[in-house]
Amino acid sequence: MTTQQNSWTEMAGRMKFDGRALINGERVSAVSGQTFECNSPVDGRYLAAVARGDAADIDAAVKAARAAFEDRRWAGLSPRSRKQIMVRFADLILAHKDELALTETLDMGKPIRNARATDVNACANTIRWYGEAIDKIYDEIAPTSDSALALITREPVGVVGAIVPWNYPMLMASWKIAPALASGNSVVLKPSEKSPLTALRLAELALEAGIPPGVFNVVPGFGHEAGNALSLHMDVDCIAFTGSTRVGKLIMVNAGQSNLKRAWTELGGKSPNIVCADCPDLDRAVASSIGSIFYNQGESCNAPSRLFVERSIKDAFIERALALMPKYAPADPLADDTVMGALVDRTQLDTVMRYIDAGRKEGAKVLSGGEQARAETGGYYVAPTLFDGVLNDMTIAREEIFGPVLSVLAFDTVEEAIQQANQTIYGLQAGVWTRDINKAHRIARALRAGTVHVNQYDEDDITVPFGGYKQSGNGRDKSLHAIDKYTELKTTWIGLE
Ligand code: NAP
Ligand code: MG
Repeated sequence: MTTQQNSWTEMAGRMKFDGRALINGERVSAVSGQTFECNSPVDGRYLAAVARGDAADIDAAVKAARAAFEDRRWAGLSPRSRKQIMVRFADLILAHKDELALTETLDMGKPIRNARATDVNACANTIRWYGEAIDKIYDEIAPTSDSALALITREPVGVVGAIVPWNYPMLMASWKIAPALASGNSVVLKPSEKSPLTALRLAELALEAGIPPGVFNVVPGFGHEAGNALSLHMDVDCIAFTGSTRVGKLIMVNAGQSNLKRAWTELGGKSPNIVCADCPDLDRAVASSIGSIFYNQGESCNAPSRLFVERSIKDAFIERALALMPKYAPADPLADDTVMGALVDRTQLDTVMRYIDAGRKEGAKVLSGGEQARAETGGYYVAPTLFDGVLNDMTIAREEIFGPVLSVLAFDTVEEAIQQANQTIYGLQAGVWTRDINKAHRIARALRAGTVHVNQYDEDDITVPFGGYKQSGNGRDKSLHAIDKYTELKTTWIGLE
């Protein structure tokens, strides 16, 4: 054990978590008094008793959010004042970097170095970016005749409900709350039951930064209880959801069956990554493709899980990929050099193992991994798995696995690769590797996906939209476009004499 690892382990042993909801600026138990146990996928250790919020708690949080919105304690501040508070909020997140990163690691299993370098930093950056943007956005005046002045102004929608998953708990929460809060809305956030702890701390830090009580509320609980109640609530104006396509459909139904609240969904993916024989640098293409599918234990919505590689370079690609596999062997998430941590829970481990079985049964060949790892720790680990000989209609090429499993498919012509890449219900992201700029553009245009990466994968940042075509959802997170989701456009037509 290294000294650094020792210190994370020691710090983890000392940490105490408050699992109560945060409503109207106060930590509160669930109205029912019920809790659920939050255990760590790292080694099964008990972390906290978390409030099991249900419809009563959601109602209390929505009432607090509504009251805060109506009296304009936040919406009524100047954009500049909201900016200053959001920037302070971002600074506080960074000031608590180690605590937040360790909480995320213990709660959902990712390596501590990724939690620090990516999750905490990107969460703070998102809050800061929307804070800094909000006093630089101007409204519009329409081109009318002399007899009128027509204003087109943006107003916050009111009360925003946000429901987020467990793979990047803090970061996914920030993609919703940052544009929503910066625009003056009040928010009720329901984190995943599998990873509720950092969201609760974020709400405390928001209060400390000066976001008034009632403006940002967090109600932990189960999806079918708290999540369902939030999406059905008659006084929520907008629901912003990130999660599976299955639950995304329920969210749209709930929105339609209640008050027709605006429903935005960021859903699953089965992203194709097309590597052509003329890729600029095979080693780089291999390292990036492998790094992106195995990052975060493969629990990324945009993971390039279908690798289409041109047949003439397939053997060379696979040889290099296999040489990299040992680097991704699962290890202790609390060790500083670990790159592959634990899956979020036993259910996810079982799901991933079922898909690996299905791949074998349907005739694909495991070249590496394919088994559980580190079972002796009491945590949930899977060896990074590479399947060769995959066909696009096999289960492992059609369904989102959300684990460290890569499917390799060979292609002979670009047309065939594009056709198969698009043959999916999803359309979140895609990749293409070629040194021919014309070919790159042609393929990028033909791919039905919200983001196409060219000669890199996943290097984009907060400045660009993120979201899906087809059943990967509607609306976009990140960039200034995200503000559209949390604002109404108002026309004020003024007759002039
Ligand atoms: P999930 O099962 O759909 O859960 C997502 C959230 O919805 C959780 O907070 C969950 O609560 C809640 N939920 C579950 N059932 C609900 C219901 N009936 N009504 C309202 N809310 C409900 O997804 P997950 O397994 O947590 O996350 C993995 C999925 O998220 C993958 O499909 C992945 O692709 C997707 N994802 C997409 C993006 C993107 O930007 N496109 C980003 C990250 C992840 P509980 O967990 O407490 O049950
Ligand atoms: Mg957890």
